[in-house]
Amino acid sequence: MSDFDLESYGITVKDIRRHLGAAKLYAAAIREEPDCVIADSGALIAYSGIKTGRSPDDKRVVKSPASQNDVWWGPVNVPIDLTTFQINLERAKDYLNTRNTIYCVDGFAGWDPKYRTKVRVICSRPYHALFMHTMLIRPTSDELANFGEPDGVIFNAGAFPANRLTAGMTSKTSIDLCLETKEMVILGTEYAGEMKKGVFTFMNYFAPERGILSMHCSATADPETDRSSLMFGLSGTGKTTLSADPKRLLIGDDEHCWMDTGIFNIEGGCYAKAIDLTPESEPDIFQALRFGAVLENVVYEEGTHRVDFGDTSITQNTRGAYPIEFIRNAKIPCVAGHPSDIIFLTCDAFGVLPPVSRLSSAQAMYHFISGYTAKVAGTEVGVREPRATFSPCFGGPFLVWHPAKYADLLADKMQRHRTNVWLVNTGWSGGSYGVGSRMKLSVTRSIIDAIHSGALAHAPVQRDPVFGFEVVSECPGVPAEVLLPRNTWTNRQDYDYSARNLAALFQDNFRKYESIARAEVKEAGPRPAPR
Ligand code: ATP
Ligand code: MN
Repeated sequence: MSDFDLESYGITVKDIRRHLGAAKLYAAAIREEPDCVIADSGALIAYSGIKTGRSPDDKRVVKSPASQNDVWWGPVNVPIDLTTFQINLERAKDYLNTRNTIYCVDGFAGWDPKYRTKVRVICSRPYHALFMHTMLIRPTSDELANFGEPDGVIFNAGAFPANRLTAGMTSKTSIDLCLETKEMVILGTEYAGEMKKGVFTFMNYFAPERGILSMHCSATADPETDRSSLMFGLSGTGKTTLSADPKRLLIGDDEHCWMDTGIFNIEGGCYAKAIDLTPESEPDIFQALRFGAVLENVVYEEGTHRVDFGDTSITQNTRGAYPIEFIRNAKIPCVAGHPSDIIFLTCDAFGVLPPVSRLSSAQAMYHFISGYTAKVAGTEVGVREPRATFSPCFGGPFLVWHPAKYADLLADKMQRHRTNVWLVNTGWSGGSYGVGSRMKLSVTRSIIDAIHSGALAHAPVQRDPVFGFEVVSECPGVPAEVLLPRNTWTNRQDYDYSARNLAALFQDNFRKYESIARAEVKEAGPRPAPR
């Protein structure tokens, strides 16, 4: 065993496994975690327990004099005091100290050497170690030898609950961030995605201070020009799916920063939804789920360990994490030039928004601040209807500053680099959920191709009477009738009604930003025609 220890953190466990690669972490997972198995594809199948998604309501941020005027306090950033944080940190360490073996992963966040951050993860589950080994940027052996002190530390004691009697705790789950010490504590959830989004949340605090825009988006680059293209969107809108694109270089699927010299990915891996995955519709992602990848909460066939991606009996949110270089056309290092295009992805389950529209810069700001998508939410048994979600900057749960901070940075950078902005609906067409159907992936891919090839730059457009943006009415590879949603509905009055309804939801939501948005941005929202 090496002379490495974690005693400076109060972690006294002697057996610390640091910097294990995938093979060793597989062996540890199989040995120590009763449910872990190897899939026939070679990926490690692991289970996150009761929590199979993030717990945004259980996130807490330390309110301290140094940062309290910076943070957007409210439901996204719920304050706790430093003492409460320290109680939870102590609880996490106490739990970790009960383990015989502890895993320590050191890696980087941010591919640009100037803005690279050193992250240390201390955890008890080999699955969590492999997940972060995959999702952080893996250091070379030289870089590891010279790693030194990390900039930030994640203490993952997710298998152990928070004490609900601790001040400010409302459940047995607590995810706590201290911006001053750059420490994160996880109690009461073993969903691995909390760790990656914790790193992102820190980035969302520190990047804007340096004039850098951190963004919840995927990114690809043109192999010839190196100009990038960003796809923003909330969960399930297609960031990961659409960025795995054989015509482009992959920069990253979820978290990026925009600096003065271009963009960079924050992460070293991708984290794809695995529901209904097939080799035909998503070949690049399917083949990436092999040895070295982690498959979460999937169901497999007992005899063969063949994964049934259609089985959602554990969760709809089945996921696969894989190192970014598993995508053949990933660009390493994951950096690229300024974006030529920004695409806002929305999964509009109302079937109202057009497949692709061009946004003016004021409309772009309006839609960036709104961050609209619609989920199909189950209500009563058998009744499922779309519910609108508005999440500022398409990443509300991860913001630290007020949304205006990110919006101002985006406006400035977009203007400086003359970026085109598009709104792409990857959701319903031909009617809302229950009547129409989800936009074909092949249709959306053709639209993205046309944006990237420049084919849409001068395509014919029609102004949407309610939303005001320019709807593209001709696009190579897409049947013209699909492009104007009103034409795809059997009943046009129903469409008009739904469009006005959605417009009203946008307006209600935007009210909270009226005091901060510039006049032209306010004007750029939908204005429902009188009935
Ligand atoms: P997250 O932020 O949670 O990672 P994401 O934006 O990366 O979400 P994806 O993982 O790409 O979302 O999920 C999109 C899902 O929707 C995939 O399962 C994909 O197969 C499916 N899908 C169906 N139709 C389309 C479409 N037209 N465009 C994009 N995705 C589609
Ligand atoms: Mn994704």
